[in-house]
Amino acid sequence: MEATKSNTTLYYLESPNSLTFELQDVASIASAAKEKGITTIIDNSYASPLGMQPAKMGIDLVVHAATKYLAGHSDCVAGAIMGSKAAISKIFYGELMTLGAVISPFNSWLMLRSLRTLEIRINRVSETTQKVVDFLAQHPGIAKIHYPHHPSHPQYELAKKDLKIPMGLFSIELATEDPEKITKFCESLRHFLMAVSWGGYESLIWPALAYYEIRKGGLPVNLIRVSIGLESADDLIHDLDQALMNIS
Ligand SMILES: *Cc1c(COP(=O)(O)O)cnc(C)c1O
Repeated sequence: MEATKSNTTLYYLESPNSLTFELQDVASIASAAKEKGITTIIDNSYASPLGMQPAKMGIDLVVHAATKYLAGHSDCVAGAIMGSKAAISKIFYGELMTLGAVISPFNSWLMLRSLRTLEIRINRVSETTQKVVDFLAQHPGIAKIHYPHHPSHPQYELAKKDLKIPMGLFSIELATEDPEKITKFCESLRHFLMAVSWGGYESLIWPALAYYEIRKGGLPVNLIRVSIGLESADDLIHDLDQALMNIS
């Protein structure tokens, strides 16, 4: 809010952000923006439409990286934007006609198939994630956990208010900052692929260590983002446990 200038016309939000998971108070920002005549857009990929419905909280435009939970199988790149008929018409007949990408028929079909299982995938991921987070939070090999629905999160109350379902993406900080140990931990995992993206059927990790440029930008070197997939919670916990044991 303090960054607002006299010529600000747009707030672009993401709550929480999908790397370190700080939240924004979406409803308050939406109402403050309305008073000032500022348009609001939120990237709602983290929460999915099941976790948060920002249009009901006063946000003007909602975008999704449909590549993530909506597609859910790491096999399809797509996006979605939702808003009032007037706002969408303006985008459709303006920018989209000139610059917009068009989803292929095959990818559209993949999306339709995926959407039919969205709710059961999300619920499964949510249940598993809470078990995995509880395991990691009490483990001496973990220094910190960044997860909105864990009581250690500084905005836990806001998370419970805004996000109806605990989702499957969070990050951890290992208790060590030794790059060799961090690498060894990542490479010891058998059920977590090391890759960007998230929200698919298979669990992934994304270590900040792998991206020197970003690391220079201030991320903790021991930060690892985790995306929980559809595997069994026991398998994932066992896998994390043995990888942590490997570097203890
Ligand atoms: C991945 C991602 C995007 C971009 O999605 P693409 O499928 O690469 O276009 C946008 N926002 C968030 C939060 C994401 O995680």
